[in-house]
Formats: sequence, C-alpha cells, structure tokens
Amino acid sequence: MAAGLPGERQWRGSPLPILGEFTVSLPPLVEPAAELTVDEIRRYSRHLIIPDIGVEGQKRLKNARVLCVGAGGLGSPALMYLAAAGVGTLGIVDFDTVDESNLQRQIIHGVSDVGRAKAESASASIREINPLVEVKIHNTALDRDNVREIFAQYDLIVDGTDNFATRYLVNDAAVLLGKPYVWGSIYRFDGQASVFWAEHGPCYRCLYPEPPPPGMVPSCAEGGVLGVLCASIGSIQVNEAIKLLAGVGEPLVGRLMVYDALEMSYRKIKVRKDPNCALCGENPTVTDLLADYEDFCGAVSAEAQEAAADATITAGELKAWQDAGKELFLVDVREPAEFEIVRIPGSTLIPKGEIISGQALVKLPQDRQIVLHCKSGVRSAEALAALKSAGFRDAVHLQGGVLSWIKQVDPSLPAY
Ligand code: ZN
Repeated sequence: MAAGLPGERQWRGSPLPILGEFTVSLPPLVEPAAELTVDEIRRYSRHLIIPDIGVEGQKRLKNARVLCVGAGGLGSPALMYLAAAGVGTLGIVDFDTVDESNLQRQIIHGVSDVGRAKAESASASIREINPLVEVKIHNTALDRDNVREIFAQYDLIVDGTDNFATRYLVNDAAVLLGKPYVWGSIYRFDGQASVFWAEHGPCYRCLYPEPPPPGMVPSCAEGGVLGVLCASIGSIQVNEAIKLLAGVGEPLVGRLMVYDALEMSYRKIKVRKDPNCALCGENPTVTDLLADYEDFCGAVSAEAQEAAADATITAGELKAWQDAGKELFLVDVREPAEFEIVRIPGSTLIPKGEIISGQALVKLPQDRQIVLHCKSGVRSAEALAALKSAGFRDAVHLQGGVLSWIKQVDPSLPAY
C-alpha cells in the first residue's frame, strides 16, 4: 500500500513550532574523490561556483553511495536530482512494475515503461540524465534477510517507501547499522520530511513508536496523493542528502519539516531523541530486526480477521447471488470520491467511518443479506467486524473488493 500520513499526524515529543532554532552541524559523511575529470568540471560547474559546495564538495558527491528505497512517488524526483547532482553511486531497491496509475506522479517512468520493472526503468532514466553515475539495481522486496547486505553497500539511505512495514524495517536496519536516513512521507496535500540518525538524534521510532492501528490508515492508493507533492518532499530529501554528504548547512536531524500544500506553509517541529525508544533508547528492547514487519504493522486487525473468517464471499459468488435475484443490500464502504470513479452495480455508498461510529446502523435493513465491499477488502473487513458486534450476524464482505469485481466479473470497468 502507498501508506501515508494520517497515522503520522500525531507526532511525539514537542508538538510546538521551534521558537529558538535547534540545529546541528555535522562533518561530511563522505571523503572526497581524488579528482574531477574535465567532463565533470564542465557538467557540475554551477555547483562548483557555489562556495559551500566547490570542487571539494563535488568530489564528496562523486565518492558518495546513496540508496533509494522505492522508485515511486518520492523515489522518482529523489533519484533524478541525486543523479543530476553527481552522486557517484546510486542504488535502487524496488520489486514493483510500472503501472499506468503511477505516471501521475512517478515522473522517472514514462508511457513506454508501463509493465517494466521500476528499478530497470528508473535506471534507464538516470543513464539519460547523467551517464557518469553508477547505478546498482536491487530488483527485490526489501526484507529482514537482505536489508543488512544491501544497506552495507551505501553511505546514506533515502526512504521513499510507501508502507509502514517497510518504513519500520528501513528505520531499524539503519539504526542497527549506524546509517543516516532521509525520510519523507506524503498524503493528499500534506508532506513531512526529516533526517533520522540515531548517533546524532532521534530515529523514526522515537517519533512514531507504534504503527497506527490496523485499518485506521488509508494508503495513498485509497486516500490519494497530489502528484506534485512528491516533488516538493522528494526535493527536500535530496537537499538533506546533499547537505549530509558534503557536510554543509544544518541537516533536519532532530527536526521534522511539515508541509501543507493547500496553505503553502512549511513548519519545523523539534523532535527529541526518546530515552525510552525501544530501539535507540537507553534500555532498548528491540536489539535485532523483527521477525515479521508485516505482522508488526498488521494490515488487518485481529477483530477484522475473525469477523471475516467465515463471512467472506468472492466476486463470482456475489454476481451469482445478483443473477439469482437474491435479496441483497450491497454496501460500498469506500469514500465518496472513490464511489464517483467506479462502483459495483446496485451498491449503496455508506463510508466505513459511519459504520464504525454506529451512525449508519439505522440505514441498514434487518431483513436482507448485507454484503459489504471496499476497494481491496481491508476496510470492508473492519466494517464487518463493527456490524457483527452490532448484531448483524449474517453480514458478509467481498474478498478483494471492487478490484476483484473488475478482474473477475467486469473488466470493462476502470481499476484505480
Ligand atoms: Zn529511537
């Protein structure tokens, strides 16, 4: 899922704008390369004449090895600007393929890349932007078995992940290996960015000790993201990466940047290292990578799993019920904007929040078979748990949601 911000809005620590500045200066992360070639001097001349960067700073970028986790919304602008800036070695971790719905924001990929591995597609774009960059492709899902070996090859990690499980994995591995990582997060019109580096400041767990409760956080695929927001936050991440590599300015260590594209406001919030952090605190309880990050972040709550255990139907079964004229009340628990895009014929929109709060229960018939559905089957399982505990014992939900209806019953409808 392209998970985002709602669960991250409740930051820990000091939720007050900084009154006095709280900044740290750090030495350069990377030693300079021996020299710049004539080609490099020509190409990077606009950097070289900035006194804070200069030849020395550019040589550090040349020697730098940066890993970008994800070649998606944040990874696209991040990789393009890191490449253009002359970062010598760029790693890309991504196991996904380019989908048409990615092109609205993932600008490193083009129309002819649809269906191609994202890591390959991104690598080809980077070669076009700057052939002097060495690209390492990791066409794999990052997991506890490969993360150490991959991270060990790089000086700095840029986190462009879109789900909580990978985000905690990236944080934990970065802390355990002592790597700085530049984090960004996007949702609709809201963005956040920070630099997490346990040796010098807080880690992601200091800010967000627990993942949000399952089912509470819509992903970007469910909640949406303004395409250009990726550039706003991805470019901040590159800016921070360059500062760390070259040792200039004050990096966002211990500070959270919060961007609101509708208000057009940037705020900085001080984030302290949490002495009780399970990972980087004084008495850590997490001393190794977790056995299962998906489990830790639980995509579906235990209640929803239990409710759905014997109350799940397939799209084919729903179609058969409809064709047989069975008395159904088909409830679409998605949001109105999603209902506008595509819907299953005969469905009634009642967003999940109204079911969970109990507000919508009066709208539900007692004498008909209730079938709940959402986009992919996660939200409808949460709503099903609420319905069952409110006494609607026969209610069922649709496995795989409207996406599986499109796949199995009516491929002429648009998937989103
Ligand atoms: Zn921590």
